[in-house]
Amino acid sequence: MKGSRVLVTGGAGFLGSHLCDRLVLEGAEVLCLDNFFTGSKRNILHLMGNSSFELIRHDLVEPIFLEVDQIYNLASPASPVHYQYNPVKTVKTNVMGAINMLGLAKRVKARILQASTSEIYGNPQEHPQKETYWGHVNPIGLRSCYDEGKRVAETLMMDYYRQNQVDVKIVRIFNTYGPRMAVSDGRVVSNFIVQALGNEPITVYGDGSQTRSFCYVSDMIEGWIAMMNCEDFIGPVNLGNPNEFSIKRLAELVIEITQSKSEIVYKSLPEDDPIQRRPDISLAKEKLSWEPHVNLAEGLEKTVDYFRRVLE
Ligand code: NAD
Ligand code: UDP
Repeated sequence: MKGSRVLVTGGAGFLGSHLCDRLVLEGAEVLCLDNFFTGSKRNILHLMGNSSFELIRHDLVEPIFLEVDQIYNLASPASPVHYQYNPVKTVKTNVMGAINMLGLAKRVKARILQASTSEIYGNPQEHPQKETYWGHVNPIGLRSCYDEGKRVAETLMMDYYRQNQVDVKIVRIFNTYGPRMAVSDGRVVSNFIVQALGNEPITVYGDGSQTRSFCYVSDMIEGWIAMMNCEDFIGPVNLGNPNEFSIKRLAELVIEITQSKSEIVYKSLPEDDPIQRRPDISLAKEKLSWEPHVNLAEGLEKTVDYFRRVLE
């Protein structure tokens, strides 16, 4: 990786900015591309002025001509609030973005890693989810702009691989949290922490019995690096923490950690909200020798510390 030119699309976002940090640390030349829809300059401010780091303001729906060795394609809103804000744009970003990045990878013979998602499994009927499961996605619902956009991105990766021998990698990311999530991100971990720190009501959607499995950001970045550097395995591979929690339990844990006076309030469950989700990570263990190490309480402590500082 040292000396390689690495493009990170969505690099000013939550996960992208942590990846940029990691790549710069390893001695890569990092090109961070973002349109700042949900990303923020604040996330990468500390990298500005570093001669190994370059920021490009660009919308991935439009093609771009660069010379790079590796591409991490992360550009896409990830929170339901943001991907549903302009669903047509979400589809365009995921589909046109993947086409543009695959065209670039093909032209310059770069390796490309696509950030896919557990959402491609939809509201899963198989539990935990293995990579062999084809999913249960509503193609016409409110979440489909994201779910189907990411499914097409996976399709494009596989077709460019079969048709043009592009060097592709697909990772299916399960709910990941940590410092640099935006205060207004809208996903559950940041919402609960921000509410708890303000002693505001904690908004649990539905009865809170639905489950998610939360992975801390540093574990996720390790998984991506391992996948990018792995030869002869293109995925798709699940990356996530297999410890499963109900959303109600998460709310209680956040209240405990923040010592908040907040009460839990129940709101209606959004359309097509998946009932249960947990990754089977046997494949990642076997092929990448990867597994997460940070447990939820530990990761939440670090995330709470971050939000305390931001909200001060
Ligand atoms: P994020 O919203 O913080 O980051 C997304 C970044 O993409 C932002 O910086 C945003 O400005 C940028 N972006 C959006 N549309 C763009 C466009 N058209 N052109 C250029 N840049 C654009 O979210 P995140 O959690 O960091 O997610 C990063 C990637 O990981 C996304 O592809 C997301 O789908 C995927 N993912 C994340 C999770 C998770 O739990 N965090 C789970 C599954 C998949
Ligand atoms: N959720 C919640 N309160 C919130 C935000 C989310 O109860 O303030 C629930 C949401 O309905 C879902 C779970 O938490 O069941 C995870 O939501 P998130 O948007 O973080 O991720 P995703 O649904 O995409 O996994």
